[in-house]
Amino acid sequence: MSSGFSFKVGKQLPNRLGRTGQITTPHGVINTPAFIPVGTKATLKSVLPESLTELGAQAVLANAYHLYLQPGSDLVDQAGGLGKFMNWSGPTFTDSGGFQVLSLGVGFKKVIAMDENTFESDEVIADDKERLAHVDDDGVTFKSHLDGSLHRFTPEVSMQVQHQLGADIIFGFDECTTLHNTRSYQEKALERTRLWAQRCLVEHDRLTKLRKDKPYQALFGVLQGAQYEELRRKAAKDLASMSMDGVSFDGFGIGGALDKNKLGTIVNWVNEELPVNKPRHLLGIGEPDDLFVGVENGADTFDCVAASRVARNNAVYGLDGRFNISVSAFKRDFTPIDESCGCYTCKNYSRAYLNHLFRAKEILGPTLATIHNVHFIVNLVERMRLAIEAGDFLDFKSDFLGRYKNSN
Ligand SMILES: [Zn+2]
Repeated sequence: MSSGFSFKVGKQLPNRLGRTGQITTPHGVINTPAFIPVGTKATLKSVLPESLTELGAQAVLANAYHLYLQPGSDLVDQAGGLGKFMNWSGPTFTDSGGFQVLSLGVGFKKVIAMDENTFESDEVIADDKERLAHVDDDGVTFKSHLDGSLHRFTPEVSMQVQHQLGADIIFGFDECTTLHNTRSYQEKALERTRLWAQRCLVEHDRLTKLRKDKPYQALFGVLQGAQYEELRRKAAKDLASMSMDGVSFDGFGIGGALDKNKLGTIVNWVNEELPVNKPRHLLGIGEPDDLFVGVENGADTFDCVAASRVARNNAVYGLDGRFNISVSAFKRDFTPIDESCGCYTCKNYSRAYLNHLFRAKEILGPTLATIHNVHFIVNLVERMRLAIEAGDFLDFKSDFLGRYKNSN
């Protein structure tokens, strides 16, 4: 492994794959398990980077697709890289853009399906939207959601964009499928992703050598395979053993279609196959119950937009579950969102004040709610880490989830 990046396993959860650990990057250390807040376009929407530090964030994850389109990855490179550009001095991640590029294929509907033979187009394309992306063995051609201009992402382009963005941890370009795709399509997509992973390693190595004056960027291979045990295990084995001219992945991303009920099983399958001494990131997972399952089964880092996205729509996290702060019940409630929360919002503001801000459509509403929500999730995973260290993770899990009610 090259300079500046390393991973050290800490304490193991008895009879489980969960563990604590420490990821070292050129821009600092991440104690794991850790939740990584998402700043899609190089900003956690409505929140100052200083507040991000204060709420406990150890790193930030931005999106390669969005930054490639706007303001352009060459501009971010010129600015000195993602961290410098957004005034964030800690570790950074970028995801490959694969998920965003491919989700355009169904015109912004939540479900992602690129198997054009399986679906009638009106089943997967939202009303008034045209199919914006087409996948082939070499890459994906897509239209910008901003201006309709035509672009093409290949494994090489994704690596070039992510090297220009300059994050400490970057992800391989993969084909993200859905649970609705057929088994045979999943197999085809998995093989395509395997070949793309090889091309990512080759291009990543070329760029690392070409840009040797820049801080080292660690590349995580992304594994797919939907709900199929055979495919998930194969993907994990393939990526774990993959080496191109002596270059292998620094860590792994677990991606794609994850049925909530099978999340723990799937994460367990792949982590049984992946090497113990490399970090594993569970992509797009961030609800409290899912985080417990992910941590227990050996995922080290997580990212998800949910905590900040719902904050902008009046929803805040509490120990009993998520609730809507703008309803009239809180109009004269002068207690904090959560009495036990140590965030800036809960230390200084009441439910009544947030209720007023949202009803009056004041910008400060989303800012304060985002600070609380992101702190809540970051802190929850931090408490899981401490519980593993203290040897009482399963007690903490049953105490927390015994009270917490899922809102979706
Ligand atoms: Zn709070």
